Amino acid sequence: MNQSPLQELRDPELSRYGVRVLVKRDDLLHPQISGNKWRKLKYNLMMARRQRFDTLLTFGGAYSNHLHAVAAVGRVCGFDTIGVVRGAPGVEENPTLSDARRFGMKLFFVEREAYRCKDSAAMLEVLHERFGRFFLLPEGGANALALTGCGELAQEIVDQLGETPDAVMCACGTGATLAGLAAHLPARSEAVGVSVLKGESSMAEDVRRLLREAALAAKSPWQVLSDYHFGGYAKCSDELLAFVTRFRAVNEIPIEPVYTGKMFFALYDLVRQGRFAPGSTIVAVHTGGLQGLRGMARKLESRGNFDWVNDYRSV
Ligand SMILES: *Cc1c(COP(=O)(O)O)cnc(C)c1O
Repeated sequence: MNQSPLQELRDPELSRYGVRVLVKRDDLLHPQISGNKWRKLKYNLMMARRQRFDTLLTFGGAYSNHLHAVAAVGRVCGFDTIGVVRGAPGVEENPTLSDARRFGMKLFFVEREAYRCKDSAAMLEVLHERFGRFFLLPEGGANALALTGCGELAQEIVDQLGETPDAVMCACGTGATLAGLAAHLPARSEAVGVSVLKGESSMAEDVRRLLREAALAAKSPWQVLSDYHFGGYAKCSDELLAFVTRFRAVNEIPIEPVYTGKMFFALYDLVRQGRFAPGSTIVAVHTGGLQGLRGMARKLESRGNFDWVNDYRSV
């Protein structure tokens, strides 16, 4: 896959504070396997191939970008794919799942209770009995190999910029992308993650655990911001929706409210607060996730006229 572009923002709301903000457009990496999901999958796929697996199995919610990316990657790279989906079949039919099916993924629905035990030995046994031999990808693709792929993201940013950025920001779900950035960015840079989940004093713990599992140490300082979740995963406020609408109009870059909207909101907030000295260069990672917009149209209908909610087209 080619490198994704690094694009500078020309928003006066940022430049008046004397900071330079660039967006690493990983949303443009591939029409289906976008953003950090490809970064996290790449070395897992190489391992699966080396170990002669022909099936990938993974877990996710009904709107999961990870599930969608694994289904797409399976089709592109020639793996059979199985998605273990949280919830009852039928009740949650949506564009994410219909894409996954169209890409050839076999979906296996698990009630919420059972899904909570997805990492147990008993569940693994059930899955092996049913599906035979498969390469297991954890929920969100968050494992040690994912950090290696996110390391390439860090390297690409430094190479394209031609210097070390003062900070690199990303949205955090599992924390794997942040862990990979912290492990591979130069020590003079700093990695700042914006948690999109509520009540995760554990996000920083997850980052530390992932670094440990990968036998990596953080090279750059890193931090998780936990005040920008807007009520929790996939929750949003009118303020966030207004921000997303303005951001898209001013910068002509598509973002969505679940991940990148919260990350950019935090970035603008930090800039306004003077968290970055004038003259700083900040790179924000656009981690993709635009396919998830399709599942939001109905939810946002009652909240205003957000025409951008319909701008993602399946390919
Ligand atoms: C999955 C996802 C994330 C979260 O990445 P983690 O490595 O799990 O922290 C961020 N942004 C988007 C768009 C995603 O789809």
